[in-house]
Amino acid sequence: MAEINLAPPIMPDGKKKIAVMTSGGDAPGMNGAVRAVVRQTIASGCTAFAVYEGYQGLVDGGDMIKEMKWEDVRGWLSEGGTLIGTARCMAFHERKGRLTAANNMIEKGIDALVICGGDGSLTGADRFRGEWPSLVDELVSSGMRTEQEVKPFRHLNIVGLVGSIDNDLSTTDATIGCYSSLQRICQAIDFIDATAFSHQRAFVIEVMGRHCGWLALMAGVSTGADFVFLPENPPSENWQEEMCSIVGKHRELGKRKTIVVVAEGAHDRDLNAISPNMVKDLLSNKVGLDTRVTTLGHVQRGGTACAYDRMLATLQGVEAVKAVLEATPETPSPVICIDENKIVRKGLIEAVQITKDVAKKIEAKDFAGAMAGRDAEFGEYWQAFNYMTATNKDDHKLPKEKQMRVGLIHVGAPAGGMNAATRAAVAYCLTRGHTPVALHNGFPGLIRHHDDEMSSVREVPWLEAENWASKGGSEIGTNRGLPSEDMETVAHCFGKYKLDALWVVGGFEAFTAVSELRKARAQYDSLKIPMVVIPATVSNNVPGTEYSIGSDTCLNALIDYCDAIRQSASASRRRVFVVETQGGASGYIATVAGLSIGALAVYTPEEGIRLNTLVEDIKLLKDQFQKDQGHTRSGKIILRNEKASKTYSTETIANIIKEESGGKFDSRFAVPGHVQQGGTPSPMDRVRAVRFGIKALQHLEEQFGSSKDQIMSNPLSSAVIGIRGARVKFSPMEKIEREETDWKDRRPKNEFWLGLTSTVDTLSGRPARTGAL
Ligand code: ATP
Repeated sequence: MAEINLAPPIMPDGKKKIAVMTSGGDAPGMNGAVRAVVRQTIASGCTAFAVYEGYQGLVDGGDMIKEMKWEDVRGWLSEGGTLIGTARCMAFHERKGRLTAANNMIEKGIDALVICGGDGSLTGADRFRGEWPSLVDELVSSGMRTEQEVKPFRHLNIVGLVGSIDNDLSTTDATIGCYSSLQRICQAIDFIDATAFSHQRAFVIEVMGRHCGWLALMAGVSTGADFVFLPENPPSENWQEEMCSIVGKHRELGKRKTIVVVAEGAHDRDLNAISPNMVKDLLSNKVGLDTRVTTLGHVQRGGTACAYDRMLATLQGVEAVKAVLEATPETPSPVICIDENKIVRKGLIEAVQITKDVAKKIEAKDFAGAMAGRDAEFGEYWQAFNYMTATNKDDHKLPKEKQMRVGLIHVGAPAGGMNAATRAAVAYCLTRGHTPVALHNGFPGLIRHHDDEMSSVREVPWLEAENWASKGGSEIGTNRGLPSEDMETVAHCFGKYKLDALWVVGGFEAFTAVSELRKARAQYDSLKIPMVVIPATVSNNVPGTEYSIGSDTCLNALIDYCDAIRQSASASRRRVFVVETQGGASGYIATVAGLSIGALAVYTPEEGIRLNTLVEDIKLLKDQFQKDQGHTRSGKIILRNEKASKTYSTETIANIIKEESGGKFDSRFAVPGHVQQGGTPSPMDRVRAVRFGIKALQHLEEQFGSSKDQIMSNPLSSAVIGIRGARVKFSPMEKIEREETDWKDRRPKNEFWLGLTSTVDTLSGRPARTGAL
């Protein structure tokens, strides 16, 4: 989340009273947003309020609008739903209701409102703000309030946070809750997959999304579904035949299971509803498959928020308070959005308008317009899905001279999503006419076994890769070894197997491997081919990107672990756990996990651990345990990266805390170790793996056909794909190696997330550290 200023804003003119509300359908992560707004408000010297039960609370007033203290939101990050309640409120649709709401807000002295909800809630918010001056006038003219009373409230400050499971707001890449919901859906489909495979059955899965097919499309991409139905982009006129032909072809190729995902708002190009049962009948009668329907329903809303939603909710909550404090009467109401990895403010009115336009375009059968109203990423995923499921290859095949033999290789430790990327690459290659050649077990596999009977170099058939979408680990095998182990043999193999391009997935070793190959090009002609690195590592320490595949899976494994541990710590009341995280010399995982679980402190290698830090944190623990007396969510967690200090090990820190607690609280340490690599990769890692995997191949396609000299002189002929701020881009290896890589500590020189540590501290109440003894 680059470029957000995380320092607590300073109030120039007295205390503001900022209220936060959740509205519309509940979404996982709403509690994290409320926590962040409340704590950031208090940390900024203002007073925080919560409006209970959405707009209904605003209309009812009284106890429904309550002041919130720091401790009131303790532990909220790990709670599902919304603890301040939500409601659909008819009264707020009427001016009378909004007038009462305005009166209640003035009564409580509230001058700013942060609303977390879907497009309906944000429409209501926008209407409320637009009407506010006339509502205030009416309060005076009707005698409900005096001029004197309303004077400080002439201007209403409103900020929107998008909390909705179906990701239906057009101007943001993700809404708070959508990735948790996707996780729930994918979990269910993964379970169904096993039984579908066993019985060779077909399953039709209905997921939420009246006007928005994001959940359906992403579920299709991450589970390797055969067909999806989205409201924005209905299938062709003879969709019945199209679907049966694709499913039938996949079966002919040997696939044992069929998954079709239907958004609840699915329809054909004439807007006739397409129901799961219609799909089931077709699959049963036309394709002859034993077919079942599963409607996931409210399961999709349930449960605790995934790591990404907790982080998004927290950073956006902080940003919302900042927006409130910076607003002038002229500032249009903002909604807090995210573009790739960058938190941004956009106009609330425009966001709502563009979203409503998508629904209107669907109604007008302008499906191209509806797709254009979604973000560019949505279109890319749609295209990727089609490449992966296409059966009529002739539609997509490149001319012969553009078809490549692509080497696919995994380097380094396994990371969730490596297989999803490789599956997508294989399917894409076969659709476009390329030959996917797997180089098994990394560079050592190539060096040692390329001549064996069981050669480590093999073309991958479609069916083999087809099952890899949701698999953890590395199906083609991965290894930390580098090509420099025997560059001559590597170069020989590239020539022998006639590789035209190299597609590499992995972490810092993968980056190093491609750097070595790039440098060795001067010596070996066979290496003068385009190469691309797709960063995949739990540590997220690859230069050239702010996100590596696998890091989200790791964060989810870590927060599940920490939630369980915190429960134990809370149950025994006064206990602090010191948890050791992976991450090598990068504190990314520790910091973002800290943000997502509400850690008391995070110790990173970048900052190190000073004795005084421990002294100050023990003091903080004493203060907090004192204040928490009787509180049910009083377990504390400190996260320590494995390389944060040579002296203060995780166990040592836990012992020091125990010793210094004076018997007032207990301390334990815990090391989740390889649990952090995760079992099944998270949907975010899977979908991004697909997107990066295919984009990387398209990048190689652009380079292919260049002469050896052109390859040598084109900086992008060896590149890293990554998210940088608001964009996904390719960066030239040579430049990244030279300017952006801290080779000694194996991490980027300027880590984008460093500023997040101050947010973890602000929200846990940890004062700025003095550092010195
Ligand atoms: P979800 O995406 O989960 O459906 P949502 O925020 O879109 O969430 P809605 O039911 O559309 O959910 O809206 C929630 C509440 O916002 C409504 O019950 C109503 O109180 C208020 N609201 C919605 N639209 C308006 C409007 N045009 N004018 C005033 N209030 C509105």
